[in-house]
Amino acid sequence: MDIIIIGSGIGGLSCAALLARYGYKVTVCESHSIPGGAAHSFIYNGFKFDSGPSLYSGLSYSPSNNPLRQVLDAIGSDCEWVNYHTWGCFLPEGDFNTSVGPDQFCEILLKLRGEKAVNEWRELQRIMTPLAKAAIAIPTAAVRYDWGALKTTGKFAPSLIKHFFNVSKLTGPFSSIIDGVVTDSFIRNWLNMLCFLLSGLPADGTSAAEVAFMFADWYRPDVMLDYPIGGSAALVNALVRGLEKHDGKLLLKTHVEEIIVENQRAVGVRLRGGKEIRASTAVISNASVWDTLNLIPPESVPQQFIQKRKSTPECESFMHLHLGIDARDIGSDLQCHYIFVKDWELGITAPQNLVLISIPSVIDSSLAPPGKHSIHVYTPGNEPYDLWQGMDRNSQDYKRQKESRAQIMWEALQKIIPDIRSRCEVTLIGTPLTHEYYLRRHRGSYGPAIRAGKALFPSSNTPLKGLMCCGDSTFPGIGLPAVAASGMIAANTLAPVRKHLEMLNTIKN
Ligand SMILES: Cc1cc2nc3c(=O)[nH]c(=O)nc-3n(C[C@H](O)[C@H](O)[C@H](O)COP(=O)(O)OP(=O)(O)OC[C@H]3O[C@@H](n4cnc5c(N)ncnc54)[C@H](O)[C@@H]3O)c2cc1C
Repeated sequence: MDIIIIGSGIGGLSCAALLARYGYKVTVCESHSIPGGAAHSFIYNGFKFDSGPSLYSGLSYSPSNNPLRQVLDAIGSDCEWVNYHTWGCFLPEGDFNTSVGPDQFCEILLKLRGEKAVNEWRELQRIMTPLAKAAIAIPTAAVRYDWGALKTTGKFAPSLIKHFFNVSKLTGPFSSIIDGVVTDSFIRNWLNMLCFLLSGLPADGTSAAEVAFMFADWYRPDVMLDYPIGGSAALVNALVRGLEKHDGKLLLKTHVEEIIVENQRAVGVRLRGGKEIRASTAVISNASVWDTLNLIPPESVPQQFIQKRKSTPECESFMHLHLGIDARDIGSDLQCHYIFVKDWELGITAPQNLVLISIPSVIDSSLAPPGKHSIHVYTPGNEPYDLWQGMDRNSQDYKRQKESRAQIMWEALQKIIPDIRSRCEVTLIGTPLTHEYYLRRHRGSYGPAIRAGKALFPSSNTPLKGLMCCGDSTFPGIGLPAVAASGMIAANTLAPVRKHLEMLNTIKN
């Protein structure tokens, strides 16, 4: 075996499939019985549910700036996509539907806030246009963490030089851009919310580059959002097919207990039960920064590294409701997504304030039996783990707390389907403990809360030779495009420059 990847999240699978395509012998060890990590799907009583991501864009067409699309192109694998453009909002200002694209949000603003707000939004769009171009001046597919980067990013240098002035503006938090342009409180709250959904942090912690990347995608003319037909599992399976087609292996129910270190080099992994698998080139961890630390023998890396990584601040966790419902007589105006905010004054990071609702069976009927819908409601990265820490999942206290903390999600959903409770055929409530267990994530966290402008997400490299990392604890951070980018960068760093350049030609950038 050349390379072992610990974990089959989107970051790990992107990395593994690309390495297999580069010609390495790759094995992915996944602790869970289902691949995909935060993006895995599961089936319950005939309903198919997504455990995590619900919003996808830039994936149903090529060439695309989305690194995940670039991975799929590079490995020659794909799934089917369905498109839509509108989602529903239940906000303190009122209830409305909004769409991606350059203009529709201005109509909403005109109604809710008046002409001044529209002018501010237009001005922000004007300022973001060159920044968005700068954010994609160098595709992450060209990046690698060694001198070979001079060659692989070389052909994009003219574009980088052209956008150089704007690239420098992308390194700070997005708030520094908003502050000079937007005074309207609703637009500021809206942007803060989008930032929180992207990174787990409000605008003063979210990198301007990340938001510029989103603007490049969401506010183009004719833009559509995507959803993988068959749910997030379809996307995961496309990556697994790409891995297997290049002779890579995925081992499920294969929990790594320790990274084996010999002569100050990571040389393999020890599995639960004691079996060892050796890797001649590298071990790559897709587990979170905190979970990875538990796998490294402490004496094999500098104490300073352990302390620094251990003290990485973390985003909070999630409450989930997975519902299978009878959809009889539900109006045809049901949207695939809804956002609910109770009170902007509480702050966007406040627990029990922001709820996302995903009803993907509205656009993909394969997810539920005929006449039914699959629903995933969640509080995104705002449920404190501390409230749940140490609770016995079989206790009455836990059951009571589960019911009471789920209340806000029911309330949000009742705005769309008033008689929702009587329609439920499947009701599953997930807590930070469920999230921690099934997603194998430290404290059920959304990921590291690394504030833009204050610190950077670490690179894939580690001080231990032969050990690299990918996923949402490495640059560029949280979210499907970002973790695919991190997997791609780790794979590129190991690949010979010649093969990397060949790969770049296949992604049509
Ligand atoms: C509810 C929710 C909604 C989201 N919505 C969106 C969205 O709409 N759009 C978007 O772009 N992003 C969204 N995200 C974020 C996105 O899903 C994640 O950032 C991304 O999937 C994380 O991928 P990853 O590769 O870093 O790791 P993970 O998905 O965490 O995968 C890591 C894998 O490693 C495995 N593992 C860990 N330790 C071991 C071990 N010792 N041995 C073997 N295996 C191990 C785990 O089982 C897991 O499968 C959402 C996340 C959540 C939770």
